[in-house]
Amino acid sequence: MKEIVVISGKGGTGKTSITASFAILADTEAIIADCDVDAADMHLLLQPDFAQYEDFYSGFKADIDQEICMKCGKCKQVCRFDAVRNDNNFYDIIPLNCEGCGYCKEVCPVNAITMIEQNVGKWYISKIKTDTFMVHAKLGVGADNSGKLVAKVKKEAKKLAQENSKDIILIDGSPGIGCPVVSSLSGADYVILITEPTLSGFHDMKRVFELIQNFNLHAGCIVNKYDVNNEISDKITDFCKKNKIDLISKLPYDEAFTKAMTTGKTIIEYEDSEIKDKLEKSWKKIMKLTDGH
Ligand code: SF4
Ligand code: SF4
Repeated sequence: MKEIVVISGKGGTGKTSITASFAILADTEAIIADCDVDAADMHLLLQPDFAQYEDFYSGFKADIDQEICMKCGKCKQVCRFDAVRNDNNFYDIIPLNCEGCGYCKEVCPVNAITMIEQNVGKWYISKIKTDTFMVHAKLGVGADNSGKLVAKVKKEAKKLAQENSKDIILIDGSPGIGCPVVSSLSGADYVILITEPTLSGFHDMKRVFELIQNFNLHAGCIVNKYDVNNEISDKITDFCKKNKIDLISKLPYDEAFTKAMTTGKTIIEYEDSEIKDKLEKSWKKIMKLTDGH
């Protein structure tokens, strides 16, 4: 079984549309995982049925029982995060500040404080239009545990792949270089970097490549809209050569890409185009490059 993760230095590079296209090309062979939990939008293209879901709990926050509290102020004294408020001798917790360390609970002489586990979102197992499964999630508003939710999505996708004897786990990774993308990358067999030929796109690609190196992972690159700036595209190609990144393909700018999206389709399901052909070839190349995993 091979785990392929698609990432980009930042959002808006076409990462999700390209991953969804690969999901269509993989057909029933793959389990899809949408690890872009902060801005999940693969569902727009793959039409999951949201059939099974579970709440996801992660982290704790303190809560004071006002009936028991004897207003000694000890909790406020020890909280390093200024999460305990004293308003007219009424002690309560500011949830956004609370880091869930539990120190206040330890020092409370009357056990007025309870640590409450936080519901940070939901994760789903859905059937998608290719008649395979997709694992995806929705992070609750203001929740900051996306790394853990990503890890959960990946774990469940792996389990499903094993149970259903699927050869491929195709993961739409999180953008950026923070904790969620680190979670997306752990355990991957191959990483596909999507980039655009702009100065910031190239810069983001270099940053994300540094991250990949820490994981000692084999990587390939797809330059999206390469013809928007041929000069930077060439620089990206050189960078790939120097760093032993497989240049998977250079995709031309094509309005059909966006048009397909607005109809809820990937470019693969849309009209014939150069970009469709290139994506089909890219997928074949990726399958070859990951042979033996
Ligand atoms: S759990 Fe920690 S951070 Fe939260 S209120 Fe108590 S001491 Fe402060
Ligand atoms: S330590 Fe306990 S009793 Fe004292 S103010 Fe805090 S919650 Fe109330």
